[in-house]
Amino acid sequence: MQSAGVDALLLSLGADLPWLTGYWAMPLERLTMLVVFPPAVPEVPVLVVPALEAPRVQLVPEVFRLRPWEETEGPVQVVASLVRRSVGERPCVAVSDRAWASSLLQLQGELPGAKWRAASSVLAPLRSVKDDREVEALARAASSADRVANALLQGEIPLVGRTERDVATEIGQRLLAEGHDRVNFAIVASGPNAASPHHEPSGRAIQVGEPVVCDFGGSMGGYCSDITRTVFTGPPAAELARAYEVVERAQASGVAAAQVGAPCEQVDAAARQVIAGAGLGEYFVHRTGHGIGLEEHEPPYLVAGNDAVLQAGNVFSVEPGVYVPGRWGVRIEDIVVATAQGPRSLNQASHALTVVPV
Ligand code: ZN
Ligand code: ZN
Ligand code: ZN
Repeated sequence: MQSAGVDALLLSLGADLPWLTGYWAMPLERLTMLVVFPPAVPEVPVLVVPALEAPRVQLVPEVFRLRPWEETEGPVQVVASLVRRSVGERPCVAVSDRAWASSLLQLQGELPGAKWRAASSVLAPLRSVKDDREVEALARAASSADRVANALLQGEIPLVGRTERDVATEIGQRLLAEGHDRVNFAIVASGPNAASPHHEPSGRAIQVGEPVVCDFGGSMGGYCSDITRTVFTGPPAAELARAYEVVERAQASGVAAAQVGAPCEQVDAAARQVIAGAGLGEYFVHRTGHGIGLEEHEPPYLVAGNDAVLQAGNVFSVEPGVYVPGRWGVRIEDIVVATAQGPRSLNQASHALTVVPV
């Protein structure tokens, strides 16, 4: 906060608050807000929380104190007076990227002399470097997702004749059975639907001789998993088999480029070059990857234009794909951690082209 010139950090919804305190605020309209000051201000952080939510908070007295508010109080006024009292009328205030706009607009009304920033300007650089305990948690979530991916690759999850929605439900159930606390998403995209990277699983029945893109993840001990495997319900046509081989090489090339000190955009370029070199560049329509942690998508983003350099402890997806509209799609995704010894994939499920038994 000091080096960013921020006088008060106001954390509401989103993962910044639990990252610092262990407490996840429910996405209620009632305001929950942690008020944090820089070291120069002798004020312990204050968690302003609806009185009815206070019993859910596990207090860590050396980290923060509680200020429960009653239903007839104005919580925005409580926060604003804490800020005014400690850092005056013209502070620079950083607010959660995920705070409700309604909270921010009211705060701006109460603190008309303040300058406003996104809290990510302070916390994203900190949260994107995972410590050993966080990497362990992400590795455990990845192994759990791997076990579901292995079941898919081995044909233990029937595909042909079932709807995408049915298969997505089973994948979610298996994530829970393998130790996840929550399913965050399960994309099952078959045949022409596979050309839509974020396809919503539909009532379409999966047929013989198709690619099926399965991209799924959840949370385990707070940390997220995210893996994609594309399987085939029959030997793929030559064009599709070739695209698969290209994506497999692009994914490996992206991982190999994910060295500490390399710019994020270089990882994207390494994967993209392989696909463009095969003449399929126009069909790779998204960035190569995203950071992952308490959130499924968080910094760092592996995308052209991001020249931030990778640091040891950055954890992110490497997930190139090729999508031919109306026809088919292929994607392979693993979660990778950058270490001083080089990139390490947390997912281990096979990348080999797999025709599942039908
Ligand atoms: Zn995605
Ligand atoms: Zn994914
Ligand atoms: Zn992803």
